[in-house]
Amino acid sequence: MVGFARYELPPLPYAYNALEPYIIEEIMKLHHQKHHNAYVKGANAALEKIEKYLKGEAEINVKAVLRDFSFNYGGHIMHSIFWPNMAPQGKGGGTPGGSLADAIEKQFGGFEGFKKLFSAAAKQVEGVGWAFLAVDPLTGELRIGQIEKHNVLATAGLVPILVIDVWEHAYYLQYKNDRGSYVENWWNVVNWDDVAARYERAINGSAPLFKLDLPFPPK
Ligand code: MN
Repeated sequence: MVGFARYELPPLPYAYNALEPYIIEEIMKLHHQKHHNAYVKGANAALEKIEKYLKGEAEINVKAVLRDFSFNYGGHIMHSIFWPNMAPQGKGGGTPGGSLADAIEKQFGGFEGFKKLFSAAAKQVEGVGWAFLAVDPLTGELRIGQIEKHNVLATAGLVPILVIDVWEHAYYLQYKNDRGSYVENWWNVVNWDDVAARYERAINGSAPLFKLDLPFPPK
């Protein structure tokens, strides 16, 4: 028996225009329906090739297919965290509370230090990619980092809890080449309730990766 689960595009948890004025409807629609959907299809296509290879139905360039899967699956994971990480006005923005706020205080000296480092990470991604805040399940500590494309520089085992997409498709239609303004405005839509919930699951679970409740359960 050979078979891998296929992935599906998760619905946005709000309307396409819900993040205006900070992120316009046109960006959200294209980003979700076209870009994210392409990564879902790309990951599934790679899985299909691997299945055929295992069944002896096709020869494949394993290295190339695994690279292709890493890119597309990375894209699917990152976007699946990115959407619920944001919330409409009234629910988004502000600062985190609870144990996440305590951890940020302990490691970054407070929210402003955290925001300074995270924003710089996002603005300085070389080319296309992401900045992330993650829990390191080996130590329980928070980590801030960058990912190029959807997968390059990603550290094995880290559990991302807050991510920002800094590919041009995430902001260019509204902010042109001004990535810095996009990053600064993005803080107004961060859904801290979602980030805090991801933090609690990652930090408290004996098997955090199984407790993430990411919105793309294998079918
Ligand atoms: Mn994107």
